[in-house]
Amino acid sequence: MMKTFLCSFILALIGFAGCQQSNEGKKEAEDYPIMTVTGEIPSSEMDTTLIHEHVLVDWIGADSTGYHRWERDEVTERVLPFLREAGGQGVQTMLECTPAYLGRDPGLLQKLSEQSGIQILTNTGYYGAVDNKFMPRHARQESAEELAARWIDEFRYGIEDSGVKPGFIKISVGGEGPLSDLHQKIVRAAALTHLETGLTIVSHTTGDKPALSQIEILKDMGVSPSAWVWTHSQAGTLQSQIEIGRKGGWISLDNFSYAPADNGNNDDSINWFVERISELDESGLLNRVLISHDAGYYNPDEENGGDFRTYTDIFEYLLPALRKNGFTKSDIDQMLVRNPREAYGIRARTTQ
Ligand SMILES: [Zn+2]
Repeated sequence: MMKTFLCSFILALIGFAGCQQSNEGKKEAEDYPIMTVTGEIPSSEMDTTLIHEHVLVDWIGADSTGYHRWERDEVTERVLPFLREAGGQGVQTMLECTPAYLGRDPGLLQKLSEQSGIQILTNTGYYGAVDNKFMPRHARQESAEELAARWIDEFRYGIEDSGVKPGFIKISVGGEGPLSDLHQKIVRAAALTHLETGLTIVSHTTGDKPALSQIEILKDMGVSPSAWVWTHSQAGTLQSQIEIGRKGGWISLDNFSYAPADNGNNDDSINWFVERISELDESGLLNRVLISHDAGYYNPDEENGGDFRTYTDIFEYLLPALRKNGFTKSDIDQMLVRNPREAYGIRARTTQ
């Protein structure tokens, strides 16, 4: 009698565990909306995704930039082969991280997406780094609420008259020390926009301190760190990456280049990336790691757009090195497929 009871109890436990497992499986496959420049798709259709690249960047400054600075046809002709090359490596989706007043052109991105077959996401938000050279005048005068209202409008009604909606919020803060009042305001505006729209906050942040300060601001505003991407986290320490990753924040290692890159840690980009990704994996944080090139782009001030860095080094050089170091197909899919779905899927993520 007792034996039978124990058996059914154990069976019930196994059944319960099995049920738990299938629920978890379901959770992983959950679809969220993703907003591309050609419309909404489910996150399951993102496939291989480069989360931080550029098509065009105009460095002239907020006061002088505008669509008059480049010819869309000329830019298209220059950029299209690079997008097609990325497509040839299996890239299905690309996040174009150029913010407004720095060369964001939704019409151009729409055209490039249609012609290359790559799903492209654009953004809303302002770029504060480089002494606020790329911030419009009104960003200084308006409150966080007023700025958020502008960004929320772009998500609801489209950017200007393009009909294109942003798929994420891109902001940037300057320096390695405490955040300036203006940059704190930008972070609060991003948090308000997130709570209203569910768009993920992608924040150009080149040091530990400003990264940790942003997590604090978000916490005060009830926004979960899982709605925040530490863009350019390669400039931060492993320790801070682990701290922020454990809180749920996304660790964006986004400057991979075959040519030695000055990432402030190591001259050899391949070794540095393999080592850092291994360390994060050993800390159980592979499910928080995002990788990309921060490559491109057409520069309107240079002849035919100037030098163009390709979007394919990860596939040609980093992935083979990772495989050699024991990373499986599933590990690589984690960083290039599953993490982007989870990171950029549109839904409000609160601390409650
Ligand atoms: Zn960038």
